[in-house]
Amino acid sequence: MRLLTVVVGLKERRPFIALAQAGAFANYRLQHRLWEGLPHLLHAILGLSGSVEPRSNNRADGQGGRGFDCSALSFSGVCVQPRWDIHCEYCRVGRGNLCANWNAIGDTVNGAFAEYVAVPAANAYRLPDGVDDQQGALIEPLSCAVHGLRRIGPVLGEDVLLIGAGTMGLLLLQLLNRAGARSVTVVDRKATRLEVAKTVGAASVAGDVPEADRGTFGVAVDATGVPAAIESAFGALARGGRLMIFGVASADAAVSLSPFRIYNDEITVVGSMAVLNSFGAAADLMAAGAIDTGPLLGPPFALDQFPEALTSVRNGEGVKIQVVPGG
Ligand SMILES: [Zn+2]
Repeated sequence: MRLLTVVVGLKERRPFIALAQAGAFANYRLQHRLWEGLPHLLHAILGLSGSVEPRSNNRADGQGGRGFDCSALSFSGVCVQPRWDIHCEYCRVGRGNLCANWNAIGDTVNGAFAEYVAVPAANAYRLPDGVDDQQGALIEPLSCAVHGLRRIGPVLGEDVLLIGAGTMGLLLLQLLNRAGARSVTVVDRKATRLEVAKTVGAASVAGDVPEADRGTFGVAVDATGVPAAIESAFGALARGGRLMIFGVASADAAVSLSPFRIYNDEITVVGSMAVLNSFGAAADLMAAGAIDTGPLLGPPFALDQFPEALTSVRNGEGVKIQVVPGG
């Protein structure tokens, strides 16, 4: 049996099989979009996948023919890695997250705001046993954090400053602790998020980088994309320190960093972009119970509460807002 392109039915979790070879999913581009302008918010896709077998023309019972035999369908829960390679010089050297022909589900083609989402079979991972839907929807952002940890390099024994306690920051915090950081200090302007950060492992929290701590951190991570926060993170580094820019700044944003300090203190500045071979590791970490998801998640919204969920996101309420179709 061969797994072909699958279409993941989200509304009321109904499965739907695309009778097409892998690659045909682009035909579904922009169909059924419920909420224009927000497709990028929904990379995190859960659903059901099925396998179908092409009909053989050589069956002894004469029942063969063109098309696909859907009589042996079976379905399992899947989570979906959103990007795929479209061959270019970066893909050729294993850096497909930098693909010159960038494409991603929920970005350049339909995401989970659509009623049905077609995904390449290679992007579908079986939802691990013991991982519920709400946790499963965190595997995609966790895979970005896993890639970020790989970009930072070893953090064993390091004092780490982490600015930004949104979903990504709180996932990074837990991975940093698991990777052996001596301490992680979390900075955020929202007191409610700092409370969550304490719950999931922050050694200390603050509304701004404490004056006494400037110049003391071996590693600093910006998970906000705010230029002032990035400059603050840079200023907090000790000599020889490493700064990772993880948050997404606007394309025309600029920061002021001292090139003399980068030279004289041997500061390393790295970026981390999306996911790269990190989705399976994220699924395994979630299955292993490595991530405390409870404090990040509130009660999910039902599909007919979609407007309220969007309002909640815009108002910065909670940490991770989720909508459960059929819930
Ligand atoms: Zn490419």
